[in-house]
Amino acid sequence: MKNNAEKLLDLVVQVEKLNQEYRAISEKISGHANDCWSEKLSTEVFPLVEVIQPCLTDWLEKKIEFDYQYCPVTGREYEIKVPYWVAPRKTEEDCPHCYAALKLIEKRKELRKKRGRIKAQITKIAKSEILKLEGAA
Ligand SMILES: [Zn+2]
Repeated sequence: MKNNAEKLLDLVVQVEKLNQEYRAISEKISGHANDCWSEKLSTEVFPLVEVIQPCLTDWLEKKIEFDYQYCPVTGREYEIKVPYWVAPRKTEEDCPHCYAALKLIEKRKELRKKRGRIKAQITKIAKSEILKLEGAA
């Protein structure tokens, strides 16, 4: 059986792998958005400047989900609101590039959750080590 130090090393390596995957996916998302075939000039963001935006920008609806985090000071669990974006009615026919980006955005959300679960395991081990140290003092 692995000790805490070995478990931590495994977990830290997993987090870094996920970070790398996350960055790679983010790059792919912007690549797909740049390839958008129906880019349009929009003046919504900056009224005096025309900005080229992929159709994906119009597709996305912001949603909120709840997640839980531990307060490092009180140790109590508290609720946080995490925004995420969906475009449930869009298909590949609307724009294959933006649709590919949309699918990757969904995948990236899963990566973020997975990373959160691993970080929670790291916190749990760290806390048990702190208790051990305090017990030894
Ligand atoms: Zn598009």
